[in-house]
Parts: sequence; structure tokens; C-alpha cells
Amino acid sequence: MSHSLSSAGNQRILRQIIQMKYIGAHVSAAGGVENAPVRAGEIGATGFALFTKNQRQWKAKPLSEENIKGFKANCKKHGFSMDAVIPHDSYLINLGHPEKAKLQKSRDAFLDELERCEQLGIKLLNFHPGSHLRKISEADCLSRIAESINIALGKTDYVKAVIENTAGQGSNMGFRFEHLAEIIDQVDQKERVGVCIDTAHAFAAGYDISTDEGFDDTMDQFGNIVGFDKLMAMHLNDSKKEVGTKVDRHDSLGDGFIGWTPFERIMKDDRFNGIPLILETPNTDRWSKEIAQLKKLAGLD
Ligand SMILES: [Zn+2]
Ligand SMILES: [Zn+2]
Repeated sequence: MSHSLSSAGNQRILRQIIQMKYIGAHVSAAGGVENAPVRAGEIGATGFALFTKNQRQWKAKPLSEENIKGFKANCKKHGFSMDAVIPHDSYLINLGHPEKAKLQKSRDAFLDELERCEQLGIKLLNFHPGSHLRKISEADCLSRIAESINIALGKTDYVKAVIENTAGQGSNMGFRFEHLAEIIDQVDQKERVGVCIDTAHAFAAGYDISTDEGFDDTMDQFGNIVGFDKLMAMHLNDSKKEVGTKVDRHDSLGDGFIGWTPFERIMKDDRFNGIPLILETPNTDRWSKEIAQLKKLAGLD
């Protein structure tokens, strides 16, 4: 029998594999998507998010062979698992749009986003569910969103649609876990749909995760209503606005109304292993420090 696993170095590696906390930030893809993994590597991240096209424009140039090869090579070079990468789609897309032509435009753009992921070998795409714009009911909007997901998944091979909870600003759906569960319930390919919990959005929507009791209660609700098997990513953000305000304003970890409690809890909880845990905090200069703090809480070096 080999005793190699008893050495300190191997123990550390073994612990890291078991814990598998992928911690990173939504980094810039300026100059080409291939630059994102380089930037993520520079801040000590073990996972990252990006936009695969300009998030404020409908049209985008197709990815070039150079973009695709460069992205894959740089992910490998900097040690990023494809389980740890989750792009965010364009802010313009509304998969629950009440008007036919605009809904179609969103569906076309969403399909393009999923196809770009598959070209890059990416397994997950994160998006906001959609808005009813006070023209259709919440239930109708949720059904439209599910239909949009069904159409897009029917035209792609493997990438998973990851629905993000929202703060509930304006007429945005997705601010209750029940909304996420209802959409998932109406999606045909269940194995290709999941959710991303944004801590700032949850807090603004009324889930008070700032205390241990509130965190436990929120995660119990999530487990019962959606289920942890559906949790495919987290966005780790503090909030500049108080609980229940329904206003979406991210803050650096520890600076807002949420504080460190839920982030400590997430780092020590196995239910958040093996998925991208992504900072979308406003001060990019602090990302490397925030990542180091989170890694320390997770017991990673
Ligand atoms: Zn988002
Ligand atoms: Zn987010």
C-alpha cells in the first residue's frame, strides 16, 4: 500500500478536490473573450463570469477561430475547470416580453448566447428571467419565459440555462423562489435548467440572509421550493440597499447591509461546492483581496 496520501502536500490537494469551491469574479472580456481567463487568473480566481458579447448591444460579431482557440487555451493554462465558468447574457434580453416581435428578438439573441457558449465549450449560461412590463400577468410571463427556454434548449446540445433570482425591481420576475420553481416546472429538459442565487438580489427581494437564522431560513426555503440539486451558481454581492427594498445595488463584501455572515456560511457549507461562486462587487481593485478572504474562509490556501 502506498503512503503517499499522508504527505502534507497531498493532504492539501485532497482537501481542495473535496471542497471544490470555485471562487471568482465577473471579469472583463474587453479585446476578446480569450482575455477573460487571463484576467481571472491575475486576481487569484478559480472560476469566473464574463460577457461573450457586448451586453448592451443586440448584434455581435460571431466568435472567431482565434477567440475560441485562445479562450480554451487560456482556460487550460490558468487551470480553470469548465464547471467553474458561467457567462452572463445581455441585459437587453427579456424572455417573458409581452409583445410578439420583441419576444422573438429576445429569443433569437438568447439562442445566439447559448450557441456562443457551446462554441467556447462552456456548460452554463446565466440570465435574468424576464419582465411582464405590466402588460401581462405574472403567471403568463413565467410561462413565456419557460417557453423561451424550451425553444432555445431544443436548438442547442448541452449548455444549461441558469436562471438568476432578481431583486424584483420594476416588473422583473424571479424575485421569489416560487417564480424560479414555476419556470423550471414548465421546462421540458429538466437536466438542462438550474438557478443562480445572487445574494444582493435575494436580500433586496426580502430574504434577510444577513443573520445566521435568516440565512438558514432562506436556504431551507430554497431547498424546499427549488432544491439544491438545481443550484448551479451563486453571485456573491453585498447590498447598498436595505432588506426588502427591491432595489438592485451591489456593494463590496462587508461594506453593505448584508455583512460577512452569509459569505462565511457559504464558504463553509458543502451545498455550495463544485459551482461557480462569482463576485459582481463594484470595486474591481478589491477583487483579489475579496477572493483571498473567501478562500481563507473556505479553508483554501
Ligand atoms: Zn445578473
Ligand atoms: Zn448577479
